[in-house]
Amino acid sequence: MSKFDVIIIGSGFGGSVHACRLAEAGYKVVVLERGRRWAPEDYPRNPDDAWLFDVDEPEHQNGWLDFRYFKDMSVIQGAGVGGGSLIYANVSIDAKPKAFEKGWPNAITYKTLKPFYERAFYMIAPETLPDNQLTPRYKLMKEAAEKTNAIDRFSKVDLAISFDKDGRFPKERPASEEAQKTFINKHGQKQGYCVHAGNCDIGCKAQAKNTLDLNYLAIAEKHGAEIRPLSIASHISKTTEGYTVFYHKLANGTKTKLALEAKKIIICAGSLGSTELLLRSRDEFKTLPKISKSLGQKWSSNGDFLTPAFYEERELSPSIGPTISAAIDYLDGSDGGAEYFVEDGGFPDVLSNLIRSRQKHKHPFSWKTKILKKIARPFSDGDPLEGMMPWFGQAMDGGDGRLYYGRNWLKPWQKKLKLKWDVSKSKLGIEGLIRAHKRLSKHTGGKVVVPFTWTLFKDLITPHPLGGCCMADDANDGVVNSEGEVFGYSNLYVSDGSIIPRPIGLNPSKTIAAIAERNVEIIINKDDITFSV
Ligand SMILES: Cc1cc2nc3c(=O)[nH]c(=O)nc-3n(C[C@H](O)[C@H](O)[C@H](O)COP(=O)(O)OP(=O)(O)OC[C@H]3O[C@@H](n4cnc5c(N)ncnc54)[C@H](O)[C@@H]3O)c2cc1C
Repeated sequence: MSKFDVIIIGSGFGGSVHACRLAEAGYKVVVLERGRRWAPEDYPRNPDDAWLFDVDEPEHQNGWLDFRYFKDMSVIQGAGVGGGSLIYANVSIDAKPKAFEKGWPNAITYKTLKPFYERAFYMIAPETLPDNQLTPRYKLMKEAAEKTNAIDRFSKVDLAISFDKDGRFPKERPASEEAQKTFINKHGQKQGYCVHAGNCDIGCKAQAKNTLDLNYLAIAEKHGAEIRPLSIASHISKTTEGYTVFYHKLANGTKTKLALEAKKIIICAGSLGSTELLLRSRDEFKTLPKISKSLGQKWSSNGDFLTPAFYEERELSPSIGPTISAAIDYLDGSDGGAEYFVEDGGFPDVLSNLIRSRQKHKHPFSWKTKILKKIARPFSDGDPLEGMMPWFGQAMDGGDGRLYYGRNWLKPWQKKLKLKWDVSKSKLGIEGLIRAHKRLSKHTGGKVVVPFTWTLFKDLITPHPLGGCCMADDANDGVVNSEGEVFGYSNLYVSDGSIIPRPIGLNPSKTIAAIAERNVEIIINKDDITFSV
């Protein structure tokens, strides 16, 4: 008999919420997470660090990010204990009430989710960028909103970042990524305040990001939940009592086959991960044959798009400060029906980080460090792309992609996750967003360069995949019900970005967490489980 009541697969926004609430309620919980448990000193900085997670060879490459290339669409996701919170740009905001008007099961409305958004807000504790730390990109956004008569659409966004109220925005790149001041957060975890190092997406060494390992997962572990990193689930089968999860333990370049049983399984492996797990279980191992035919459908990129603009006279320093700080909201569709949400963007300055890391840790005077410094010098002593504004944002796309399990043409004896994506129904929103990027740049003296990947090929990259195991009122329309339970399989749940049945047109992590808060409350309230001792 298994010693666990519940197995949770994945430790991102869905998995962390479930682990926390179920452990608090007294369930014996185990979390299987394919990625590592990252510590700040291990965040990737050097070229030979663990940057990539390779789903084909996870025993050899289980690094920071999982980049998947499908035809006309690439997807970026995090991998590690804390899931996408490790890599994300910290924007933690509600979806608009309008996003719930159609496409959802009847039980899900903005009103029903509101108390759960509040719970997620309490746990993640987001803040807005303080007025004494406004970034040049924030100032440009505000000016652009004023000059385009959109100031009433402009606002700061909530960020899962801890700011020092007495802090300031640095005049130049901070010499150190480490925190200058630390504190103990409301969950008893040590964090530091934001030093504006600009490394939100590659791991914040100051620990200023309120990542899930510092809130939900910390509470889960305090209540006895066991987290098993480097444990990648392969498929699930039904038993008389519950389910078996078959998984591989990754260690020292090897994969070891293992299995765990529990009465209840919560699949939280993200839009691609959860869909793939169920596709494999239904179609390859044939262990869950009754899963709905709609598995894989209504997949959305959430309309993410980035347009760089170049300014001759401005220092925008996109690699200093929080990646995103503010938004201009056109989700009301007033721009010719296109619904979109413009944000400022940013990115880590990988070169400066590399030099800093080599100086600090290894080879301060080595010939490689000296060469790197020479290469970096012409880019000024600050930011190599200091006049660049990465206009970013999301749009309502068509939400009509389909994930499926198809032949791997490089290894024809194997199958792999594939995506069927047609951009036609997504063009209205995405072109509206690009138009806004152009308009905002034009009114502030910038020159946009729309990526040729869009102008020539209509290819997209998304960090916000949604759908695949969608919520619905019946199995003809989706894979799980309005509580996340898989149609045809009681006690088997999915709760993460894969159950969101449509694009929401803005950053989705808080909505995923709120829905998980609702689902897990329903599980706990109606459960008649006999707890193992
Ligand atoms: C660069 C970047 C920036 C982003 N910025 C923002 C932002 O500012 N705001 C926002 O709201 N969203 C942002 N996102 C998106 C956000 O990270 C995701 O929407 C969110 O993490 C999805 O939550 P989830 O629970 O569905 O999945 P995830 O958080 O991805 O968690 C799924 C977990 O399951 C694990 N897993 C997958 N397959 C398996 C398996 N077979 N076995 C075991 N474990 C498995 C994964 O390693 C992962 O840890 C960003 C994403 C990226 C890549």
